[in-house]
Order: sequence, then structure tokens, then C-alpha cells
Amino acid sequence: MPEAMVAARASDATNSATTQTVDVAVVGAGFAGLYILHRLRKAGFSAVVLEEGGDVGGTWYWNRYPGARCDIQTIDYSYTFDPELEKAWTWSEKYATQPEILRYLGFVADRYDLRRDIRFGTKVKQATWDEAGERWQLATDKGASVSCRHYIMATGCLSSPKPPEIDGVKDFKGEVYFTGRWPHEEVNLKGKRIAVIGTGSSGIQSIPIIAEQAAQLTVFQRTPNFALPAHNGTAPADRKTMLESDRAAYREQARWSLAGVPYPQQMDVSWQLSDAERRERFEKAWAAGDLVHILTQLWADQAVDVDGNKLVSELVREKIRGVVKDPDIAEALSPHDHPFGAKRPCLDTNYYATYNRPNVTLVNLRQEPIKAITASGITTDKRSFDVDVIVFATGFDAMTGAIMAVHPITGRAGKSLSSVWAQGPQTYLGLTVAGFPNLFMITGPGSPSVLSNMAVSIEQHADWVVDRLVALREAGFTTMEATETAQTGWARHMADCATLTLHRLANTWYTGANVPGKARGVMPYTGGVGPYRSICNEVVSGGMLGFRLKGPNGAEQCNDGEVVRLQPDVRLVLGMLAQMNLPPIETMGAQGARDFLDEFNKARPAGRPVGEVGEGMLQGADGPLPYKLYRPATPGPHPIVVYFHGGGWVLGDQQSDDPFCRDMCRRTGMIIVSVGYRHAPEHRFPAAAEDGYAATRWIAEHAAEFGGKPGPVLVAGWSAGGNIAAVTCQLARDRGGPPIAGQLLVCPVTDCSFDRPSYTENAAGYFLTRGLMFWFWDLYCSPADRTDPRVSPLRGKLEGLPPAYIVTCEFDPLRDEGIAYGDALAKAGVPVEQLRAHGQFHSSFTMVDVIITGVSGRAKMAEALRGFAGLPKQESERRAPPEINVAAK
Ligand code: NAP
Repeated sequence: MPEAMVAARASDATNSATTQTVDVAVVGAGFAGLYILHRLRKAGFSAVVLEEGGDVGGTWYWNRYPGARCDIQTIDYSYTFDPELEKAWTWSEKYATQPEILRYLGFVADRYDLRRDIRFGTKVKQATWDEAGERWQLATDKGASVSCRHYIMATGCLSSPKPPEIDGVKDFKGEVYFTGRWPHEEVNLKGKRIAVIGTGSSGIQSIPIIAEQAAQLTVFQRTPNFALPAHNGTAPADRKTMLESDRAAYREQARWSLAGVPYPQQMDVSWQLSDAERRERFEKAWAAGDLVHILTQLWADQAVDVDGNKLVSELVREKIRGVVKDPDIAEALSPHDHPFGAKRPCLDTNYYATYNRPNVTLVNLRQEPIKAITASGITTDKRSFDVDVIVFATGFDAMTGAIMAVHPITGRAGKSLSSVWAQGPQTYLGLTVAGFPNLFMITGPGSPSVLSNMAVSIEQHADWVVDRLVALREAGFTTMEATETAQTGWARHMADCATLTLHRLANTWYTGANVPGKARGVMPYTGGVGPYRSICNEVVSGGMLGFRLKGPNGAEQCNDGEVVRLQPDVRLVLGMLAQMNLPPIETMGAQGARDFLDEFNKARPAGRPVGEVGEGMLQGADGPLPYKLYRPATPGPHPIVVYFHGGGWVLGDQQSDDPFCRDMCRRTGMIIVSVGYRHAPEHRFPAAAEDGYAATRWIAEHAAEFGGKPGPVLVAGWSAGGNIAAVTCQLARDRGGPPIAGQLLVCPVTDCSFDRPSYTENAAGYFLTRGLMFWFWDLYCSPADRTDPRVSPLRGKLEGLPPAYIVTCEFDPLRDEGIAYGDALAKAGVPVEQLRAHGQFHSSFTMVDVIITGVSGRAKMAEALRGFAGLPKQESERRAPPEINVAAK
């Protein structure tokens, strides 16, 4: 019998009793709770929504402060599940006001008759998992308690205001307001002396309006924020036309986009654009008054690279200086402590211009911290301000506060959610928590939530959850719970994603830094809405991967595992390659494969600028060879790195690894000489090996002509180039030089044995396939020669070789032979360090500016090379991305 029917009967039976029995209980009647209730009803579940507020609206019910509006364009910040609903409602403005959004949510509640299943003014005091009954038991502060099979937290991310953390608030004799709990009655601010503490989105939206009403407004700012003009008005014609011309396509594009708003992926990187081009793009974004536009459409590196970001930050600061007349105030309002976008930028109307008003004062709390709030006002350590009203725009205990701090949630074996999350939230997909069966969160930590258009994320989460409940019911299961393996894997994927963007570099509510004592870590999922959606779908198509499902009579299903093991950007690149459905490279013929690679490389971002790039010819083993030279911008002489490109001894040339050579040049401050050694099948073994050695010798002998430092050179190479670099070190040792100070081997070929596990595990699907490797070997080297150390250096003598830094990638057929070489070198007494990069594939480190998660690995390689050359460690930002900035408040 469907549970809804059981519940309906139970509900009847308990009408007069003190427990309401339903299939599903939902907390919160905001955007999420309303839609879930609608979906649950349509799916035949009995449901109740418990809502503390007096009406629907959630965040829009509580945040009624002057100037409150949405900051995603309202045409995007709407439900999309019902085309009829879309036709029935027209927004009056580009960014609707809080009252209009509240009216919209009321309209939705009426249209689908939702209020009859919502218990308003009701707070859940406690939620406990009843192991025997397999139900959640909820204690409420009003009316019947609730017994439910499934418990869904639709509590929002920013609904638990944080305490002011300032002494003396209770002593203040005037009026006190919190933007997050603004009174429902009219608040008269006219002619009053008002203090606003806090300059986040709430402060920045309310300050200009309060300034118009106040006799005197004093703004207490601890950290300035970036804000851009909203240019509110009617919805922009271009976006509206796009939506109306094909509504379904527009909505679908939003669902698969990065931020939940249909914008294309920006491909141009900042260093490809001139100053004038960058300014033009910036001015266009500034005029658009759209957060998603300015956060995603300027240049591809703006959100992922410190240098690319600095360019935007400076342009915004220039705007602030252009508006605020007093240069000292302009400087105080200009953020310098975080990258643009790492903290949520604000949308404003006249915010900066407000500081030109005679009745507005800015107090910079970095220079004069608040000492206390007194009966008459606020005292800093320099002066006192008498005020009639204090407005706290001090923010929220975000993301976890709304779930954890609202009421105790006790899961399996009596474990409380607060103890499980003491070191930071742990979730699977941001939707579920191991140990808490049948508990779901909508836009919880671990979901794209606040980094996306919430309306799009809410619909996706709600659909996914309700669809799972339907499938569970149909399969006869009663509980669903994330496994520890899946949850740990999600935490790792979250951490991988967090290295992609710059959010980790700011003290924000995204990282828990705004609440004293709260565990730090990037809480929202930074991998994007579209990728997240595809992962959720994969969990389902993978047989509910990472979930344990249980039912009556011991029925159980558990397909345990981690849903994403690849780095997020590797996953994207491999996904794109798979979509291209290319023929295997080994079927193209050598020339065809070379032509293909040329085309493929053209689609990659150009390498970054270095001091100088030159070309020339050097002497190889059997005639001249071309080379490409990369010189740093710093004064020389510099140590020289002789570099060998990848391509299986068949493909590539001295410039095919150009972005990687530039990156190494910039990071190491050394000269990189990339050698165009001879290729198979035209020149078979040992041509490439002998060229590598001869070229190294020649470069060492001509170091001064290159502007190189006298003394040993270094060698480096990727893939087959790593093979040549390793072989060169052995030959140099055995043939009387040149002296080599160190070797960097990135995913090197080291042996002709193909039976190590990585050859099988990663045989296909990661671009470099087992079949391609066989083809390379066949073209370069006949079977009889393969055990020669000049192609299988693992089989050579390893004592007395220069120190090595060996990089291997988890999803690479060559992984295990690289590790084996490192281990063997160490055994032979060679100083060796290994970087075993998880989630990366064979090409990760050379796809500079495509595989952003390779940055820290490349930084470590550069440090290793500098170490070999005897150069000091670098302290610059080009090193490994710093951890979260934990500067004291
Ligand atoms: P917020 O961004 O966390 O800002 C809080 C402000 O209060 C910060 O300037 C903070 O300074 C300051 N503050 C906190 N405690 C303080 C203390 N003890 N002493 C002095 N200053 C203190 O909070 P919010 O403005 O409410 O915004 C939160 C989020 O809600 C936004 O980022 C946005 O996502 C959403 N929101 C959106 C809109 C919209 O436009 N739709 C409007 C409002 C809110 P520090 O930075 O130094 O901590």
C-alpha cells in the first residue's frame, strides 16, 4: 500500500492525538519549501511544512529592511517548473523589491493551494531518528508533534542571523533593528541619528535609503566590499528577448550553466586582451548591472587566477574613486583584502555616492574598532557617537546555522548533527549526511546553492529528492542513507573544486570566517550548477551510487563508491573530448596525428607572457635541431633547463608544450630551452634519445651565449620527453658530462613492461590510451631494442644520477612506471621526491590554464627545479595557491 495512504489513515486516526503522521515533513516555506510541497503532493506523498514565520516567503518574509531586493535578475530568479505559472506572472522590475517577491511567493502558494499543508508560526524544537520505526520524530513548539518517514530541511542558507558580538547591546536605550529580522510594522527613521553596522549586501542595499531619511547616518565598516550599480528599471530588453524567444531553451541553458543563469563560458584569457579591450569589456559589464555578467564574462581567468583577478579589482576601485569625492573615504571604501568575487559582491543603488552626502559619516573600524555600545550610542577607541537607532546588518551564521543551530537533529545511534559537523559540514552531494537516514537538505553546504541562482538550484535539488523518494517507494525501500565512502569522496571533490576558484582566499560567510569559532572551509560547491547536475544524475544512473537503501525483511541495496574521482576540470575536459567522438589517434597515421594535434593545441589558451621568446638551431646527434627559448623578465644570467616535449617520440615539436614552458619559465625564473628532437617513424630508436643527450651537451657548452649561468644545466620533460630527460641523465653520467643539477620527469615513460596495474586501470577513457602507447612504441622502437636503458631507463644503472622530481597522475597508464622509477632511484641512493597527483590525467600539467587544478603541482615542480639550481624558495603568489586566509578580524 502506498505510504501516502497509510499516512492518510494514520493522520485521520491521530487527528485528536498529539502526533501528526505524514510521509514527509519539510521545514521552511520559502522558495524551496513551497516547491517541494507542490512536488510531494503531485507524487502522492502526504506532507506538512513547518514554518516559524507567519506566512510563506522564507528569507523574503524576514528580510524586510529598506532597499531589500534580489541580486539575480528577477526573470532568472523565478520558478520554471510550470510554463503556465511563468505566463501568469510578470515582474515589474529588473531586480524586484522584497515586497514584490513576497507577493510572488504568496501568489504561488495560492495558485497551488499550498497553505493548507503549512503550519505557520511553528518551530521544530527537536528532530530524532527513530531507529525501530524508521521515522523521524519531530517535537514542535506549537500543536501536534510530527512523525515522518522523510525529513527535508528547506531552511535556506542565510536565515539564522548571527549575534552582534559587540559588548553592551543590551545597554543601548534607543531602537535596535536587525536587517535579517526587520519588523513587519512601519519603522520610522525620519530625522533620526542612525548607526548602521555592517557593509555586506544588506548594509549596502539599505544605507542609501536610510541616508535619505536620517538626520545623520554613521556607517561602521569593518571590511569594505565590492559593489556595482544595479541599474534597476525594467528588465533589460536583450535578456527578455532571449527568454521570450525560446523560454524552454533559455531555462534549460540556465540549468546546465555554471551559475544558473544562461551566459556562455568565457574563453579569452586576460593576457590575450589589450588594456583597451579589457576596459571595454569591463565598462560593458559595469553598465549591464548584473552580478553574473561581471563575475563570468570579462575574461576566463578572472575567477581562478590571482593576476587575472587583480585587473578587475583595480578597475572597480577606479570606479569607487571616480564617485566618492573625498579620496580618503574612497580609499577606505576600496577593498584590498580579497579578490573580486571571492566574497559575494553587492549590487547597489547610489551606495558610493551616498558618502558624498553631508549627513553621512564613514567610520573605518580597521582604524578605530568599536569598544562598546553604551546607553546613548557607539564608542570606538577614538570617539563616541550618540545615536537614536542602531541597525545591525551584520550577517548570518550561513549555510550550517539554518540547519544545525535551529534545533538539535539526532540521527542513527544517537549521534547529533552538531557533533558530526563540529569540524565543518560533511555531506554527500550537499543533500544528505551519512548516519542521518531519510534526512535531506535543500541548498545545504556542499551544494552550489549560494554560488548559483538559488531558484535553479532549488528546483534541481527538490526534483532530485522527490524523484528519489518516488523511486524508493516503487522499489519497496523505506530508508536511504549516504555511505561514509561516498561522503568522504564528496569532501575530497569539494576540496578539489575549492582549489579551482579564489573563494578560499577571502574571509567570508562562504568559508565560515564571519562567525567566531566556526570551522573554516569553503562550504558551497564551487564546481558549478551544470557539472553538479550531471553528477547528481550519475549517482542515479550508477544505481544510487554511494547510497544504502533498506526495506522490509532485510532488503538492502548498496552500490558503494565515490561519484567523482577526477579533478573537476579534468572531468570537464575529458567530457568535452568524449563528446567530440574523435577517432583514436593511432588510426590517423603519423602525419594525420600531427595535424590533429596542431589543431587541438590551437584551441588551448595561449601561453602567458615571459621576458623573451626566441628560436634557433642547435647541434643534435646527427645534424641541426630547432629549439625554442623562454627567458624570464628578470636580469640574468639564469640557470638553464633543457626541456623535452611530449608526444610519444612521434608527435609534437619544440613549441607544442609552449604554455607549459612559459609557465615553468615564469615560476622558476630560469631559461627554458625546448628542444625539437627527431621523431619516429622517420627516425627510430635511438634517434630521440641520442638527440636529447647531444642537445643537452650542446646547450651546456653554449650556456653563456644563451645568457645562462655557468655551471650544471637541468633537464625536464613530459611523457616521452620525460623519458628522454631521464635517459639523458644516464648518458651524461656515463659519457663524461655535461653535469646535470637535477631532473624533472612529468608522467615519464620509463619501461617497456605494460602489465603494471595503471596500464589496465587507465587503458581507455583518459586521452592517452593503452592502444596509443602501443602505437608509439611500435613506431619508435622494435621489440628487440626495448629493454635498452636508452628507452627503458628503469632497466639501466641508477646509481649516481642527479636528484629527481617525479610527477605521476592517478589516471594515466604511465602512472605506475613513473612511481617505479622514483622508487628505484631512491633505492639506488638518488635524492628523489615524488608528486603523485590524485584525480589528474596524463596531460593535466601541460594543459596550463585549462587544468587549473594543476597549478599547485606546477608550483611544486618549479620549486623543485629552483632547489636543484640552488635558488632560494620563492614567496610569491606564483607558488602553490595559499590556503584560506585566516587573518584575524
Ligand atoms: P554579510 O555579507 O555577512 O555582511 C555582514 C557585514 O557586517 C560585514 O560587513 C561584516 O564585516 C559586518 N560585521 C559582522 N559582524 C560585525 C561586528 N561584530 N562588528 C563590525 N562589523 C561586523 O551579511 P549580509 O549583508 O546580510 O549579506 C549576506 C548575504 O546575503 C549576501 O552575501 C548575499 O548573498 C545575501 N544577500 C543578498 C541580498 C540581495 O541583494 N539579494 C541582500 C542581502 C543579503 P566583515 O566583512 O569584516 O565580517
